Amino acid sequence: MGLPIAILKRECNFSVLGSGGRRSEESRWWRDLCCVSEGDLQNKNWFLSNVRRSIGDGAAASFWHEAWCDDECLKSKYPRLFSIADSKSGTVAEAGLFEDGVWKWNLRWRRLFFQWEEELGADLLRRIQPLCCFRDKKDGWRWVLETDGRFSVRSAYVFLARHYSMPHSVCYSKAWNRFIPSKVSALMWKILQGRLPTKIALQRRCIIPQSESVLCVFCHRHAESVDHLFLECEFSQRIWHGCYKWLGISCVLPTSCKDHFVQHCSMWNYKKCRKIWRLLWGTTVWSLWLLRNEIVFSNACVDYIHLLDLIQVRSWRWVSAKVGHTHYGFVQWYIDPMTCITSAMSKS
Ligand SMILES: [Zn+2]
Repeated sequence: MGLPIAILKRECNFSVLGSGGRRSEESRWWRDLCCVSEGDLQNKNWFLSNVRRSIGDGAAASFWHEAWCDDECLKSKYPRLFSIADSKSGTVAEAGLFEDGVWKWNLRWRRLFFQWEEELGADLLRRIQPLCCFRDKKDGWRWVLETDGRFSVRSAYVFLARHYSMPHSVCYSKAWNRFIPSKVSALMWKILQGRLPTKIALQRRCIIPQSESVLCVFCHRHAESVDHLFLECEFSQRIWHGCYKWLGISCVLPTSCKDHFVQHCSMWNYKKCRKIWRLLWGTTVWSLWLLRNEIVFSNACVDYIHLLDLIQVRSWRWVSAKVGHTHYGFVQWYIDPMTCITSAMSKS
């Protein structure tokens, strides 16, 4: 569902979003949002470039500074005329008037045009002539990527995906499929992006103080980074090897989560079963992350057997929910998961 741009306008100051100016009192959330708008993307100010003013009574829209009659604001389009404008901060309403109920443009300048400026002035008038203000309608905002002018996350995502190619996008796309619950896909995506709020990440962002311990809650020996928590830690390695033993596979674990995910995906060549295979990776990292949070927030204990059981139960539930409970029971899944996976996909 589209979000009216007016709501975004009410919540956000468009002139700040994308302006590049940061204030120390701004919240971290707001600074992150501004970075999305103007940050490291190749196409800077992507958000503002897709927003237009829709003119109502012209009382709120800036004549020179906002894009209301074209893709570009008039200040950028006609810098020479802007430099001699009588009012540089005036609204659209102040640039004309109603005469006998009909809108007439009435632009004012600080001096008469030089001869070579007259064509510029005529061009500006030709551009705005078809447009007019309306007495009974407020100025609004329009999101140009949707036909109804309302903002939608989908259109913004499609725009960014088209203009900003993410590295390893194939790897990321594998984390999203219909067999994996969206909450698990989101976690996998954060892990592969290195965006998980581990202790090291939180301390780097000054969310937890420097004096606080950032040691891994599983081993209490190494700092808690994404790669350590899910792969390098002895406990996590035991879990992975336990899972692979259950699946009848022997392998050497790489040292980065991204490499491991790629390795895991390449272990199964049968195309139909790949989605379930990726779900197993997601279930394992999901279970490790939940246990980590339970230890941090609820003083839970590290329990290898219990966690391995949970991974087997969760993966069975999630796969069964997608392909149907009638294909096999948990005991079959527990004893011979590989046959169950093959049979599940051949019947789905
Ligand atoms: Zn550890």
